[in-house]
Amino acid sequence: MEIHQEASSEAQAPSALSNAEIADRLAGLAQLLSTQKENPYKVKAYHRAAARIRSLSDSLDELVREDADLTQFPGIGEAIASAIREIVLTGKLRKLETLRGQAAPEIASLADYPRLDPKRVLRVYKKLGISSIESLRENLESGEIESVLGLRMAQHIRQGLSEAHAMLLYRADDLRDAVEEFLLTKCAVKAVQVVGACRRRVEVIEEIAFVIGTDDFPAVVRRMQRYGGRTTLLGSSSDSAVFALAAGITLRLRLCSARAWGLCLVTETGSEAHLKKLEAVTGRLTSLPGEPAFTTETAFYRNFGLAYIEPELREGHDEVERAGMGSLPKLVTEADIRGELHAHSTSSDGVHSIEQMAAAARERGYEYIGISDHSQSLKIARGVSVDDLWQQIRYIDKLNAKSDGIRILKSSEVDILADGSLDYPDDLLHELDYTVCSIHSRFGLNREHQTERLMRAMDNRYFNILGHATGRLLLKRPGYEIDMDRVVEHARQNGCFFEINSSPDRLDLSADNARRAAAAGVLIAINTDSHSMGELELVRRGLDQARRAGLAKSAVLNCRCWQKLVSLFRR
Ligand SMILES: [Zn+2]
Ligand SMILES: [Zn+2]
Repeated sequence: MEIHQEASSEAQAPSALSNAEIADRLAGLAQLLSTQKENPYKVKAYHRAAARIRSLSDSLDELVREDADLTQFPGIGEAIASAIREIVLTGKLRKLETLRGQAAPEIASLADYPRLDPKRVLRVYKKLGISSIESLRENLESGEIESVLGLRMAQHIRQGLSEAHAMLLYRADDLRDAVEEFLLTKCAVKAVQVVGACRRRVEVIEEIAFVIGTDDFPAVVRRMQRYGGRTTLLGSSSDSAVFALAAGITLRLRLCSARAWGLCLVTETGSEAHLKKLEAVTGRLTSLPGEPAFTTETAFYRNFGLAYIEPELREGHDEVERAGMGSLPKLVTEADIRGELHAHSTSSDGVHSIEQMAAAARERGYEYIGISDHSQSLKIARGVSVDDLWQQIRYIDKLNAKSDGIRILKSSEVDILADGSLDYPDDLLHELDYTVCSIHSRFGLNREHQTERLMRAMDNRYFNILGHATGRLLLKRPGYEIDMDRVVEHARQNGCFFEINSSPDRLDLSADNARRAAAAGVLIAINTDSHSMGELELVRRGLDQARRAGLAKSAVLNCRCWQKLVSLFRR
């Protein structure tokens, strides 16, 4: 496919600001405010507004000039709306200019790096006796920051200095929706379907891709350059165009005829590895004039004797072979989930009470919800003391006696201490219905020690589910190192289980690790780790991972009723 640069005839006059430029100024203000003694919520509000604005399809510049109400957008209140008006109408933000003028140069320059936490950077500056972004970069590359201030600090600095070119799937989903609506309402496309990594539900997204149907592709490409005020076209051909979105990732549009729609979805959705395996079966993945071109994906698969392959499975594992043998798994769905096994309450760091969490679970049609607050050693998350947990157990018994349509399970997210012991005495653990056991400290232990630590913890008879198995935070920090095969085997022998933690920045187990655990016959809970009622919805994020791992409902712990679980949880 030929890609060539194309100058836009409809590009706006340079005086109009793009949403990205407006967002940069708001983020800069947030940065400088945070070095002052400013209310952290205000700082966060500016950062959040900046992130929202980067995904917005409407041009804020135009809206301001039309005198539209900017508070119609979530995350934009009166103060931020008036800041945006000032930026558009004067090209400046007085508050930002003032703060920049007052700040020392080493602080002023932080306004240009919104992903760096100024407080942390100033700590590095002080410790290493440096005062510029250049020195910061040099000390990062030489390993000085890591050796003096630790791995986490080095990771933060590395992330903050790099250009954003990826985002978490749940944020990409919002952007996908906004772009799709823009294509349908502002670009007059006739048909649109998201494809690529987004459709496969990959947890970190670098490109959003759509297959579109239209009679005038060049017009669509021109209009898309007006997205968010101004969006850069990186290149285009007669049937394809790539844009740099303000949010830091790319957007790819692929023109496709109705006649070949199904084939196009297949070739644009599968990973490279998947397409290679598919091509080995079908001979080729293009259609020549006069040949069948497949209007639907199902027609395509059927033609080659294959069962329909769910998009989440199109990664090039064994799905093509299994589609040929008719032995693909029936993937777990939201309707199969019967309860929640990892939720926090106000007893530790949650925002809603046990009763509220239970009500929210009942509202979702669940049969049970496990309250697993943090254990005593996790002071930072207001871990529950031994005495308080005893009380909570009796309290939940009382609530259940009143039984109003949902069973509350007595649980705890028990810290796995550095030596592999659990954070409560056995007599207390014995009173719980089950436990989720997690690592929240000493991430720096080496692979051997970390693996031993987990295996020792699993030797405790009250260990049931391993919480967020690797501790990874997507786009923030890799997990700690463990020998996953040994841990999976040990879990299998000891009757322990894993969770897929549905928090969008964890999604831990990863799909690959979940696939491994399931292959060994170890059941997996899809847990939200909710800290509020609303977060129970995150189960959809965990389901994405479970489906990518090829899990049927029989492989999922919380697709079982409580009676079944009782017999599975050794106590
Ligand atoms: Zn945890
Ligand atoms: Zn938790």
